[in-house]
Amino acid sequence: MNKLDKKPTFLENVDMMINQAIDRIDIDPNIAKILKICRSVIQVKFPVKIKGKIEIFYGWRAVHSNHRLPVKGGLRFSLNVDQKEVEALASLMTFKCAVVDVPFGGAKGALLIDPNKYDEESLEKITKKFARELIRKGFLSPARDVPAPDVGTSPREMGWILDAYKSLRPEDINHMACVTGKPVEHGGIKGRLEATGRGVHEALKEFFRHPEEVKKSGLNGELNNQKIIIQGFGNVGLNSAKSLYKDGATIIGIAEIDGAIFNDSGINIIDLEKYKIENNTILNFPNTKNITSSNDILTYQCDILIPAALENTITLKNVDSIKAKLICEAANGPISYRADNKLNEKGIIIIPDIYANAGGVAVSYFEWIRNTSHIRMGRLSKRYEENRGNTIIKAIKFLSKETLPQTIIDKLVYGANEEDIVVSGLEDTMRMAFQEILECKKKYKLDNYRMAAYASALKKIEKSYLELGI
Ligand code: NAD
Repeated sequence: MNKLDKKPTFLENVDMMINQAIDRIDIDPNIAKILKICRSVIQVKFPVKIKGKIEIFYGWRAVHSNHRLPVKGGLRFSLNVDQKEVEALASLMTFKCAVVDVPFGGAKGALLIDPNKYDEESLEKITKKFARELIRKGFLSPARDVPAPDVGTSPREMGWILDAYKSLRPEDINHMACVTGKPVEHGGIKGRLEATGRGVHEALKEFFRHPEEVKKSGLNGELNNQKIIIQGFGNVGLNSAKSLYKDGATIIGIAEIDGAIFNDSGINIIDLEKYKIENNTILNFPNTKNITSSNDILTYQCDILIPAALENTITLKNVDSIKAKLICEAANGPISYRADNKLNEKGIIIIPDIYANAGGVAVSYFEWIRNTSHIRMGRLSKRYEENRGNTIIKAIKFLSKETLPQTIIDKLVYGANEEDIVVSGLEDTMRMAFQEILECKKKYKLDNYRMAAYASALKKIEKSYLELGI
């Protein structure tokens, strides 16, 4: 068998990428050793009585690095999960948090389940039982390990987890912070649901603010001149598409699990969202062509490709047919290690997952801060800012006969609410992180953003370990 025929697992792909980064960056060998392993992983098997019958469920929680606490990472509900996948995703979380300066360690969890097979009542029962298993074993608490939504989970499941935690640990005054991505009415933060997608958009906007980098990619003009294809129309895919579309971008193709749709002149994403809710599919959306074999669209002519579904979707099998000049990894691990090397050789620019989809964990951090400080962001400052704006307008009127345009007056007298603060915090996080990645790219003479993002993360984690001792 040809060596290349053996398909590496997701964990092997992630490990190879991390090892490649460690080899290319001057990092303390002891720290490198620590970061190559997953610190702890728990497997739970638990029974739940569903409609009078006992079913056994399998779940995992992996903590890759606890150099900072709490550790943070999503919970995935899917039939395509196992311990190794959870370990791979946990290690990506360690580096992701470091890239965007979120002071958390890396973790991930999963439950082996097809969530579509169960009604809401059963799912609630299963989720709460899973949460209780993790809580009792020290793998879920505001101070130690804080999950968030991922594939197959949403604010609804996070709300159930919060309820399970609150009933087991009612004396914990910070119980709200045991999980992020909760419903806004139960301690969630406005903007978390859309955060990962918005962050993908911010990552692309920041890339296009650096003309010398854009030139290297072979792309011309602004972000809104580019034709974009997105794989996955779930939380991350939909919100990336919506944020880009509302800002004027042209999305020409969307792939879902049951097929893809294409229109070279652009797709109306707002109408498509409504269409998917009504029809439970994106197929046959008016003014688009159906593509039955969903993955084929990845190889269509476009400028930017955004894989936002699952890992290992660009591999040796299809890498040579990719035509995009820029790939922005909204999903975790969508490009295999070998495909990544091939794309780099061809000069295709990749904005890597540990940066591109970090908007979600950044806003989860804001939510955790909101929960542990027990106050809505902006509550203390909104009126103060409005009064200050009014005073500035009065001062301008006093000094000048000119009248300010109403749009400027409105902006001056506006006090930021929670969502404004979240959106601006997210933008700042994504911009600063990209600039640090660029600095690392230059400093360590790296030829791609993935290695530069790992360099940025590795240096921060190394410092943290060395300062505290191992
Ligand atoms: P989701 O379950 O909401 O959406 C995933 C979508 O991808 C679904 O609509 C599914 O039908 C579709 N899909 C699955 N296989 C496909 C295929 N082969 N082709 C096309 N579409 C396919 O999950 P999500 O939360 O949007 O997560 C997507 C990716 O983003 C995952 O890799 C996840 O780990 C990553 N991520 C999510 C978040 C978050 O905040 N939710 C944060 C960071 C990273």
